[in-house]
Amino acid sequence: MKAFVYNGPGQSALEERPKPVIGAPTDAIVRVTRTTICGTDLHILKGDLPSCAPGRILGHEGVGVIDSVGAAVTAFKPGDRVLISCVSACGKCASCRKGMFSHCETGGWILGNTIDGTQAEFVRIPHADTSLYPIADGDDEDALVMLSDILPTGFECGVLNGKVQPGATVAIVGSGPIGLAALLTARFYSPGEIIMIDLDDNRLEVARRFGATQTINSADGKAVEALMALTGGRGVDTAIEAVGVPASFELCEQIVAAGGVIANIGVHGVPVTLHLERLWDRNISITTRLVDTASTPMLLKVLKAGKIDPKLLITHHFKFADIGKAYETFGDAAATKALKVIIEV
Ligand SMILES: [Zn+2]
Ligand SMILES: [Zn+2]
Repeated sequence: MKAFVYNGPGQSALEERPKPVIGAPTDAIVRVTRTTICGTDLHILKGDLPSCAPGRILGHEGVGVIDSVGAAVTAFKPGDRVLISCVSACGKCASCRKGMFSHCETGGWILGNTIDGTQAEFVRIPHADTSLYPIADGDDEDALVMLSDILPTGFECGVLNGKVQPGATVAIVGSGPIGLAALLTARFYSPGEIIMIDLDDNRLEVARRFGATQTINSADGKAVEALMALTGGRGVDTAIEAVGVPASFELCEQIVAAGGVIANIGVHGVPVTLHLERLWDRNISITTRLVDTASTPMLLKVLKAGKIDPKLLITHHFKFADIGKAYETFGDAAATKALKVIIEV
């Protein structure tokens, strides 16, 4: 089969690989029909994630059709259409019993990281019964791919952890795909204001179309002043960090209102200064989380009911043979205006 392989920092290729086989009775083999590229895949390609070794097939998002199942799989059979979760979960360990699937003792984020992933014609899914979701024949596969990772990530790490409330003021720092996913799902709770902050005017324009009530371009270094002017000097009830660099987290520390929450989504590679000298008496909370995808069944229902349109996030389509081009387009988002790219396998 064809698969997109990480071969060490700066090196990747579409290669011929053997089709995966059932290794444990709880495994399923899925024929992938749609996949996409995540910002995390770009980090891996740069060599930022030592857990992902050269030779690994990338990708942790996608939909497909069950090709074969192990003897212990009872929820799925060959021919069933499925959504693949970016997090694999056994459903039985202490973390899973708490609903914290991201820290499953034999799962978590392993796809396209410590085991081969979804940017391939076939993928082996461990713990298939509790890591796949059934989808119906008429369901829109492009929209569903957004439920593998970015929608549950924006919702769980940003909106749920950030305790977004009706009428509240929310700021989202970073208007990329994850920040926009947080914006789309924050609207479930009818916040009064959603203020989007980014360096890229195009992405802020997209945020307006998605329902941001205000946008701030932070390129001039005056985002704090601009936000304080919009909030009567109070700051925001929820500040969602959706970038993963010190400047964006420190911006959240400056704009969170007394009693507010800073909800971190970004993947941070270097230390960030915690300004306790300013925050010690402000009654704030700071939350961190890796997505558990515990909200996926709810998001599937919201999608089915037509209450959310995740296809708004999709800007480009590619055939699998052109996945190299898809990476170039996604990696150069400032020029290509790419958000999420769909790859038809
Ligand atoms: Zn991802
Ligand atoms: Zn588990």
